[in-house]
Amino acid sequence: MKTGRKKIIDLLKTPPLGENVTVKGWVRTKRESKSINFIAINDGSVIHNIQAVADLQKFGEEFLKSITTGSCVAVSGKLVQSAGKGQSVEIQAESIDLYGTADPLTYPLQKKGHTLEFLREIAHLRPRTNTFGAVLRIRHAMAYAIHKYFNDKGFFYLHSPIITGSDAEGAGAMFRVTTLDPETPPRTGDGKVNYAEDFFGRETSLTVSGQLEGELAALALSGVYTFGPTFRAENSNTPRHLAEFWMIEPEMAFYDIYDNMDLAEDFLKYLTVYALEHCADDIDFLNKMYDNRLTERLQSVKDATFERISYSNAIDILLKSGEGFEFPVSWGSDLQSEHERYLVEKHFKKPVILTDYPRAIKAFYMKQNDDGKTVRAMDVLFPGIGEIIGGSQREENYDSLYARVKEFGIKEKDLWWYLETRKYGTAPHSGFGLGFERLILFITGMSNIRDVIPFPRTPKNAEF
Ligand code: ATP
Ligand code: MN
Repeated sequence: MKTGRKKIIDLLKTPPLGENVTVKGWVRTKRESKSINFIAINDGSVIHNIQAVADLQKFGEEFLKSITTGSCVAVSGKLVQSAGKGQSVEIQAESIDLYGTADPLTYPLQKKGHTLEFLREIAHLRPRTNTFGAVLRIRHAMAYAIHKYFNDKGFFYLHSPIITGSDAEGAGAMFRVTTLDPETPPRTGDGKVNYAEDFFGRETSLTVSGQLEGELAALALSGVYTFGPTFRAENSNTPRHLAEFWMIEPEMAFYDIYDNMDLAEDFLKYLTVYALEHCADDIDFLNKMYDNRLTERLQSVKDATFERISYSNAIDILLKSGEGFEFPVSWGSDLQSEHERYLVEKHFKKPVILTDYPRAIKAFYMKQNDDGKTVRAMDVLFPGIGEIIGGSQREENYDSLYARVKEFGIKEKDLWWYLETRKYGTAPHSGFGLGFERLILFITGMSNIRDVIPFPRTPKNAEF
């Protein structure tokens, strides 16, 4: 008898023993014995498979032969306690529908144990592996937890635009958005491309950050956050950079840099605890397969008090470390990932929040300190990752901000609306940006950012 479809996660949680059930999913493995076949089925609801036992006489050898790794089936039958090792329950198959076969001669995931590099080349099929199932479920859980965290705190989700007319954010090279024909663009008298004739009547790009718009809303709603895709056309082929990545950017009126640090620390710990509590099966799997210190590391971050030190003190520590860094350390230059990881993994052995960076290496909107040399920036550095959050208290004083805008050579006509918030009812405020994929790297223990997003966009790669 066929019944309504059940998800494997629900069947395994509270198995309705003795009842007829139907599961639908993809065959992970099939074992054959003399009179029966064991078919392991996964439907993506959970990392675990369910085993169906199919009688050779009942279904016929030819039919069972056509069910191979990768094929898609619906199996109905009685759920019983399993005598075999490796699973507690199994389905005694009464009927099997074969939705789709997968030719074992060509199916790329026929065998187990592919490298992550190979799986990147088959991004259309890699969600069918245990690894990507685990990563994608964790990604979902983290996205949900992020919304829950802010919602429970009374923050509002702000939908900042993806197409932007301002190129003043300064966070990285931008992708141009245009409907002009690159072969024959309209030109002005002096031969330049005439963007007045473009779709928006001006030059536009994909956003590198939702922060500036976040600030506009925070200065009205007090606490907001954005959570959307951001785009950076920098040619950085590293295991921690994507050309398209997702960012969470809370922005808060009436927060100074200390409130900002407290929020960032609380937020990251909340997400870590949420993952440990809600993604235990997937984290256990990744801990076993890729990184046997993953669970331990997640626990340690949850229990740690993040170290808070100034950039200047960090430079002293690095200079005295005696480490042979690839990039030299000096006051005034940006920290490289190797420096950040030294501080976190070797020196402090816990997450570090670095503050008060040199003004010359940080964005124009950061609040200037009285020393005339540093700004109220705060970056959160994490084990295995380096920078996971970048944030700051924002410059709320009109004259100081205006001076910085000029210093950076930003045209006032590109940013007049941002400056106006400092003219009308300005307020101390702060915010930060968490790279979603860097968070997922941390939670999953994966080592390449290309393996924590379904379809990575990196230089020379946007096929799937
Ligand atoms: P990095 O120095 O690591 O390149 P950044 O200082 O340019 O980062 P911010 O502009 O401060 O980054 O962006 C905020 C956060 O967004 C970073 O802390 C990081 O988590 C994430 N992030 C930045 N650039 C990328 C990228 N290309 N791919 C994925 N995540 C990124
Ligand atoms: Mn940064």
